[in-house]
Amino acid sequence: MLNGKHSLHRLLVSATLLMALLTSLLAGLLLAFDLQSALERRRQVYEALLDTFTGVYLQEQLERDRALLGALSAQLEESGESGLALSPSWPVLVRALKAGGEHAYFYNARTDHIDAYPAWTRPAGFVAAERPWAVLLDPAVRDETTWVGPYSEFSSHQPMMTAVRRVRGADGALRGLLMVDLAISPLERALERVVGTTPATLTIFNRDGRVVAAANPLRTPIGAASLRRAATSADLVQALRYGVLVYRQLPSPAWDVVLYTPAAEVRRELLEAAPRYLVGLFGLLALWLVGFSLFKRIFVREQALLSSAMAALSQGAMPAEPLPRRARTWFVGEQLGVIQRVARELDDAKRASQQDVLTGLANRRAFDADFARRWQAGAPFWLLAIDIDHFKQLNDRYGHLFGDTVLQRLGAALQEGETALALYRTGGDELMALADGSADIAALLDRMFARVCALQWRERELVVSVSVGAAASGETADAEALLQLADARLYQSKHAGRGRATWLAAAQPA
Ligand code: GH3
Ligand code: MG
Repeated sequence: MLNGKHSLHRLLVSATLLMALLTSLLAGLLLAFDLQSALERRRQVYEALLDTFTGVYLQEQLERDRALLGALSAQLEESGESGLALSPSWPVLVRALKAGGEHAYFYNARTDHIDAYPAWTRPAGFVAAERPWAVLLDPAVRDETTWVGPYSEFSSHQPMMTAVRRVRGADGALRGLLMVDLAISPLERALERVVGTTPATLTIFNRDGRVVAAANPLRTPIGAASLRRAATSADLVQALRYGVLVYRQLPSPAWDVVLYTPAAEVRRELLEAAPRYLVGLFGLLALWLVGFSLFKRIFVREQALLSSAMAALSQGAMPAEPLPRRARTWFVGEQLGVIQRVARELDDAKRASQQDVLTGLANRRAFDADFARRWQAGAPFWLLAIDIDHFKQLNDRYGHLFGDTVLQRLGAALQEGETALALYRTGGDELMALADGSADIAALLDRMFARVCALQWRERELVVSVSVGAAASGETADAEALLQLADARLYQSKHAGRGRATWLAAAQPA
């Protein structure tokens, strides 16, 4: 039983651990799956945000500047080498296309003069050759529209980008640079409007890695390394380690527009989602534990039931009747049934082995056991040795079958009504009886003889009698001597004429 309980506890512990492992795994998988789809949804939102920002807002701004440059350069060509750069239609064009009020201007490379709208006066210390766009005066540079910046505007120190178009004269030599400014601060405000309170940063990088404009509601510095490694696909592990990145590349200006969620934000989202799954996990575990302990209780109870049934069987004390209702079982009913059947069979075999087939009385085996038990128990008792008189003659005269009938009826008559008397057929026509020491032996014998006498036989002349020798348990020192004493007294009765009993009147069992 102890072993059974121990292995059950081991089973409980390892099964619980296994169950915990499996449920954690399942919860983890569900969590990962959930997070993955949340990540994917967020990516889709970000992609849409970026598309709107770059495709609608930014492209529109840049297109306007390109269009302005195109229109102004056409005017320049019309005005010819001699004319002023600033024709009367400039203000109209600039006002129509530059709502931000930035300048559109022409730098004449030959005269070092700048024509601008809105009107601009050259500040003191302004040296054109030192401006960032001056690099485009280099004859080696190609003629396409180029973006310069961001750089700090000369007077206001505001960050600025400039779209530059090289203008050639009729002789093909560089005549000057046509330029349109784009202020960075409105761009930044637009970025901030787009990103709103989203836990992400929206940044425009130059292809050389410099920041053009940025909106960062998190106010956390973002490492270039994280940016490089951030997940650009729905890779959860990468997202958890380095964050999530969505970007658009513009050809001109060569900008990368980057929307980035740092890893800390992705992890925060995970932590927010985790408790829901943990509740489920612990709920499952608790349910399982309750179920298992119920099962364990039933198991232990039924094991005990089985053990006690086995113990009872081995002691010969197994009740042969069916189990009471409350002892109905889940698992061991069949086994208990088998034990019961075995108990019944053993009981039947034992009874058969101690019974005389002819008379139905207990046999010599039963007598030997009961006599030894009584002797050992020490309580006073009477021992009676009984023998049928002239039974051989009876057999000879009326036949053996009739002899059998006489044996049966005599046995029944001797026992009839005597609850305190145990009667045994120990040999052919020999019987033994045991009676409690408290019995009145004379009265008992009288009753027994009377019943034998009263037996009616078909053969009217037939008289069947028995002789008896009785001894009290106190008369001898050992059991064997008591048996011999009763036997000796039976022979005394035979010699004295049969049909009588001999015992020591003074003797009382002790
Ligand atoms: P006594 O009065 O001296 O006892 O005379 P008896 O004839 O009874 O002598 P004994 O006890 O020696 O004979 C016993 C007889 O019992 C012998 C045998 O034929 C008979 N007998 C033994 N067993 C059975 C039995 O099972 N059935 C029958 N019908 N007779 C049996
Ligand atoms: Mg006899």
